[in-house]
Amino acid sequence: MATYSHSRLSTFEQCPFKFKLRYLDKIKPEIEQSIESHLGGVVHDTLEWVHTEVMNNKIPTIDQMITRYAEKWEEKYKPNFVIVRKTMNPKDYFNKGVQFLLDYYQKNQPFKENTLEVEKRILIELDENTKLQGFIDRLVHNLETGQYEVHDYKTANNLPTQAKIDGDRQLALYSIAIKEKYGHDKEVCLVWHYLAHNLKIQSRRTNQQLKQLKKETLELIKKIESTTHFPTNKMILCSWCEYKSMCPEFSDRSLTCSAGGKINEHQKPLTQFSDTPPEEVKGLDIW
Ligand code: SF4
Repeated sequence: MATYSHSRLSTFEQCPFKFKLRYLDKIKPEIEQSIESHLGGVVHDTLEWVHTEVMNNKIPTIDQMITRYAEKWEEKYKPNFVIVRKTMNPKDYFNKGVQFLLDYYQKNQPFKENTLEVEKRILIELDENTKLQGFIDRLVHNLETGQYEVHDYKTANNLPTQAKIDGDRQLALYSIAIKEKYGHDKEVCLVWHYLAHNLKIQSRRTNQQLKQLKKETLELIKKIESTTHFPTNKMILCSWCEYKSMCPEFSDRSLTCSAGGKINEHQKPLTQFSDTPPEEVKGLDIW
């Protein structure tokens, strides 16, 4: 049975060539991570830790939270992280994370929400042959409203419109798993924390909308599975693409490859990497 993830689907939509390199050829990129992705990962890790402590009846102090963040930053930091924005240095990114956490702490303390789980793995059976796997940053059962809440942290600078949020696929798919577990009559609220703006955005889906979403997701998967041509898609996000050095769009000395695109003739020997990259669970945040 094939298992998909939201990031696998969105990579295909974003750039079929990148999808092929990452998921079919399983090529390990020379550049493993952007500094934005590192920042997003460490902030997610810190908030996961804060809420785990709260669930264990220990509310961390601000100092403890920032210490944890700084330790994880150091532990996972690699000097070869890509910094696209030349006006910023690693310290600027580190400080941004500190500000995100301080704002979040001030706004949400004493963390009275009834958090059930953090980094909750979900598995949805889209049909008898296809599953979708994902991770919910934080699942809350709101005791006042009786509804479940799927919380997601975003470290990106860009703030989406409500229309975009109302059409977001990822959390809506995750809410299917929550309804399957707790009952289709239960209300599920989707909550995004845009940390750079210290703002919470919410959305909901009806059961009818979720049924339609399941259908559309299966159609997309069928399209992916029948695809034989994987063209490049040059766009603004290419600056953050970990496969840019292998991409024919950014090389004049290139060879045609089986993907239907081209591969740099000076590409280094390729190694395999996990089908589930770190962004899969943390979300790749682009600024
Ligand atoms: S650099 Fe752009 S076009 Fe090339 S693989 Fe990456 S996303 Fe696709």
